[in-house]
Amino acid sequence: MSRLTTQAPTVLRAGGPNAVGVMLGLLGDEWTLLILREALLGARRFVDWRARLPISNAVLTARLNRLAGAGLLDRHAYQDRPPRWEYRLTERGAGVWPVLLCIWAWEAAWVPEHVERLPVRVHAACGQAFDPVLVCAACEQPVTAAPDQLTGGFGPSGGWARSVPDASTRRRSAGGDAGLFPQTTALMGNRWSAALLGAAFLGVHRFAEFQRCLAAPPTVVADRIRRFCELGVLRERDYRLTAKGRAFLPVVLTAVDWAQRWFHAEEGPALEHVHTACGASFSPALSCSACAGRLCRVDVRVRTDTVTMLDPASRSRR
Ligand SMILES: [Zn+2]
Ligand SMILES: [Zn+2]
Repeated sequence: MSRLTTQAPTVLRAGGPNAVGVMLGLLGDEWTLLILREALLGARRFVDWRARLPISNAVLTARLNRLAGAGLLDRHAYQDRPPRWEYRLTERGAGVWPVLLCIWAWEAAWVPEHVERLPVRVHAACGQAFDPVLVCAACEQPVTAAPDQLTGGFGPSGGWARSVPDASTRRRSAGGDAGLFPQTTALMGNRWSAALLGAAFLGVHRFAEFQRCLAAPPTVVADRIRRFCELGVLRERDYRLTAKGRAFLPVVLTAVDWAQRWFHAEEGPALEHVHTACGASFSPALSCSACAGRLCRVDVRVRTDTVTMLDPASRSRR
């Protein structure tokens, strides 16, 4: 079992970006998602990421520093002269695995023109290929984007204005995109896109209402809606989510759950939902589509080899 640095949640100052805003500032970046994925696959040293990703030194340095600053990676010196560092996943960093798993499954199912062939996921507990299924942690029943499944919405630190990253974390154009998760990046990697997606999941489908939620100029709203229609995430005729758009819900809910676990606004949660079917406060979990057992990080494997996909310890033991 991997040894992870244990941590306490970060307290967010009152009135600032809430957990959703902080999360989008961190995870709404393709390089960051790829760096975390490789960290879960065992990357620890600068050369590991350089060997696995088409990333420049400058971009990698900037992202590693940011992830260390946000408590997702822990920096340790492994050599003094010259100084060399390795970056180990913390509990908070490793906790991103459900989000990455849902992104992986969504891209594999809905983005056929993928530049990188995505390997088959195997659930170690049952030995079968699987898709992650979003369930309610309280009652284990599957949860979809159907309108009657979850009730609730913004909590005490919610609201559109606070659910976007602050200016310092929005500056990240340097380095461009990797092009490995292009559609996920199109949905989450931009404050307007993320807000549009969130509004669509909350049932918004009229232009004026999108504009009110995003608090953006009409040209920006029109541009984002057009892009979502091109991606096949919104229907052209009424701006409602398509099946592909609704299938992104596990990514959104696991990301929000991770954010609210690790970033606590002084006023309370940004989002609060109740699972209608069981009446419990909703928190997401993932189960295996083949055996219906609950998924955990160390049970997710890749068909192509026997390395545990999401357990950093499995590679470091080699
Ligand atoms: Zn439930
Ligand atoms: Zn299974």
